[in-house]
Amino acid sequence: MAIWNPWRGCHRQSEGCRYCYIHKGDARKGIDTDQIVRTEKFYAPVEKKTSGDYKIKPGQTVYVCFSSDFLLEDADEWRGECWDMIRERQDLHFLFLTKRIDRFMQCIPKDWGDGYENVTVGCTIENQEMADARLAVFSELPIKHRNIICQPLIGAIELEQHLKGVELVVAGGESDKNARPLDYEWVLSLREQCIRTGTHFEFRQCGTYFIKDGKQYKLAVKDLGSQARKAGINV
Ligand code: SF4
Repeated sequence: MAIWNPWRGCHRQSEGCRYCYIHKGDARKGIDTDQIVRTEKFYAPVEKKTSGDYKIKPGQTVYVCFSSDFLLEDADEWRGECWDMIRERQDLHFLFLTKRIDRFMQCIPKDWGDGYENVTVGCTIENQEMADARLAVFSELPIKHRNIICQPLIGAIELEQHLKGVELVVAGGESDKNARPLDYEWVLSLREQCIRTGTHFEFRQCGTYFIKDGKQYKLAVKDLGSQARKAGINV
């Protein structure tokens, strides 16, 4: 696994961005997240060692733009070079998540066709409103590998009609002292929808405030992932 952040910074897009970890981390360091800048790692996928080998070893999944959104408007002039690198590194699999799936068709390269085999696109949704708006678009797009990321999940979501061709649905709660609670029933409902459609499902993290059987619990950040794994409900 490798991480590639060609640029950093982002603008809040919807309710799911309220406690964005990038904005929170930057605020602590006095960085303005709304300033979008290219990083010194922009060319990381094609950087080579003196031996001539790529620094990022073949066969890995590369997580792209985890300090931004790959489809951010501010990065339109830079994305073309990123596609060139993705095309060059057929030996890697690239994955990016976006809350801007409505911009997808204007962001893809000319030779995209019905999708690059080495790219997975994750459409992020947080509630029914965003599911309705974004998944209606997402379902129609030419993408070879697609995931749906329901994190932070802040309400129940019906998305079964959009699961055709989806490889994985991820559910997770919000992490913040003011986080909106995650109701376990919402997670189980998503899981049922995935089971009915033969879609992989992963419960990735509880929320700081977690409701189970009508009772609300407060969890430490360090326990959010492990508590979700303990539920043992991935399929
Ligand atoms: S789109 Fe993602 S990175 Fe950008 S503000 Fe929202 S949560 Fe943060």
